Amino acid sequence: MRHPALLGTLLLALGATAQVAWDKGVLDELAWRERHGTEHLLRHGSPTWGYDLHHHRLEWSIDPAVNFISGTVRSHFTATAVLSTLRFDADTALHVSAVLHGTDPLIWTHGTDGILWIDLPTPLAPGAMDSVTVVYSGAPSGSGFGSFAVGNPLGNTAQWTLSEPYGARDWWPCKQDLHDKIDSIDVFLTVPAAYEAVSNGVLMSVTPVNGGTQRIHHWRHRHPIAYYLIATAVCDYTVSQTQIPLVGDTVTMWTYAYPQDDYLAQLVAGDVAQQMPFYSSRFGNYPFADEQYGHAQFGWGGGMEHQTMTFMGGWSYELAAHELAHQWFGDKVTCASWQDLWLNEGFATYLSGLCYETLAAQYWPGWKLAQVADITSLPDGSVRVSDTTDIARLFSARLTYRKGAMVLHMLRWVCGDSAFFAGCRNYLNDPQLAYSNAHTSDLQGHLEAASGLDLDGFMADWYIGEGHPSYTVEWSQDAGGNVSLQLFQSSSHPSVAFFELPVPLRFKNGTQDSLVVLDHTADGQTFGLWLPFQADSVLLDPDTWLITGQNLVLRVPTLAATDGRAVLYPNPAEGDALLYLGGTHQGHADVRITDLHGRSVRVLPARPITDRRIALPVADLAAGVYVVEADGVRGVLVKR
Ligand SMILES: [Zn+2]
Repeated sequence: MRHPALLGTLLLALGATAQVAWDKGVLDELAWRERHGTEHLLRHGSPTWGYDLHHHRLEWSIDPAVNFISGTVRSHFTATAVLSTLRFDADTALHVSAVLHGTDPLIWTHGTDGILWIDLPTPLAPGAMDSVTVVYSGAPSGSGFGSFAVGNPLGNTAQWTLSEPYGARDWWPCKQDLHDKIDSIDVFLTVPAAYEAVSNGVLMSVTPVNGGTQRIHHWRHRHPIAYYLIATAVCDYTVSQTQIPLVGDTVTMWTYAYPQDDYLAQLVAGDVAQQMPFYSSRFGNYPFADEQYGHAQFGWGGGMEHQTMTFMGGWSYELAAHELAHQWFGDKVTCASWQDLWLNEGFATYLSGLCYETLAAQYWPGWKLAQVADITSLPDGSVRVSDTTDIARLFSARLTYRKGAMVLHMLRWVCGDSAFFAGCRNYLNDPQLAYSNAHTSDLQGHLEAASGLDLDGFMADWYIGEGHPSYTVEWSQDAGGNVSLQLFQSSSHPSVAFFELPVPLRFKNGTQDSLVVLDHTADGQTFGLWLPFQADSVLLDPDTWLITGQNLVLRVPTLAATDGRAVLYPNPAEGDALLYLGGTHQGHADVRITDLHGRSVRVLPARPITDRRIALPVADLAAGVYVVEADGVRGVLVKR
């Protein structure tokens, strides 16, 4: 999903198909189930509540002018334990009028907690298959980002859904369990004849009913799908199609646009026609190439990666790239818990960046800098989501999306290009994970196998830990070309004392340059190297491989002896600042502030050390760069 607040700065821009008789489909379904019936045994994680879903037949009647839904949900499942009652999630705004076992009515209770309990006629043994049908209707109350909505976006009468993360229950009786992907679905949407209706998979038929005043749109999907990726939208769409050639395959893409936006939609369809072959070349062919891809406009401001049918709040290059990427990362392989949401959102964000790197290179440097600037605008925050009930944190653009994306970029830097992309492909094609779910440890395992590296330390710092490093480089070069260099690092957050990273530096003068990568393992580490030219400047991380804050590169006449390094915060400072001494410093310390020429600017005798820090009254200092020393440690302060 992409929230409207995340939208990038680059805004670029059916008639009835052949009738297919689904109800030879009963046979189809049995045959299909036999072929795929063991799939759940291979899955990663176990379905909850004593049953494993195989198929939903979803019949819905919707008028986009009215906030109301009526329908039936028939669920085929296998008991995974002795099962006498079935549990579904269904919001209390939905009125259940009947539950059927074949044609026999069953007894159910629908509590104020939104749990629907259904008594089975006889308990099922583990491994037994059965099905039930829930008949219901209601005016969905909507939650989250608008789980079920009707409205008039751009003056068009429209209905749409957006169930991620917990909103499917608002509009249909379902099982909100990430570990129980539904193996296949058939969706029958009855809508007024003037409208098109979209859902997941392939549009099999459009059948006029009720004297031609309504039409039933039958959508059929034959891949495992998570509950939150099932969706519907209804509007008087302008419909068009594009053929996208892939290696060994051709994918039909359907574009459903509000009529006044069709021109923009066509431009973005052209963009997707480049993005899909690019992703396929990097990560394997589009995962649903045997069916189709589609994108449909909806009334929410962002985008949502409904499986095989993205919903688009507007038509832009980066939004299309992000949602398309989710078909691999999010839909084919879905995060196994919401704590791991970066496996969906970090990847989708990063892949939209890769589109710039490969297809529109002029935007790539600025894209990376924009991600880092937002990530480091605050000193804290982890990629891992610790409170998954906090939807604002779950979908934090800064942490789950941008930091997730740049942590992937750093993994690419640490592992190397070929190992990183091989590890990602192996992750997507792992039979335990493909069309199923993954934890962060699964991605780590594939990157470790491909690279031969142990990434425990990296993941502790960058997935679980908070904050980011800032660097100070002090360097000098003698007449013979020998460079002496000392690399300091301060962490913006106490959860990570030190970030071990390969740090790139580019030495240059007007005509020559050389990139050096330092294996930085300790604060204040010294390095010696030789250059065949006299450098006049050094750039730290010139190609933006790293998430770093305020970095300083200082050319010094000769390198000072290694000493302790203090952290100043905030840095740069506009008002007063704090000097963190760290270690075991306590009591009082004399503070000396000098400028870069070594001239004393301020002496503060006997300042109290509280919680290993000293308050610095520097609000009145002129803008500039200062060295602050106390108790044998020192730091560099940028004053604004
Ligand atoms: Zn997303």
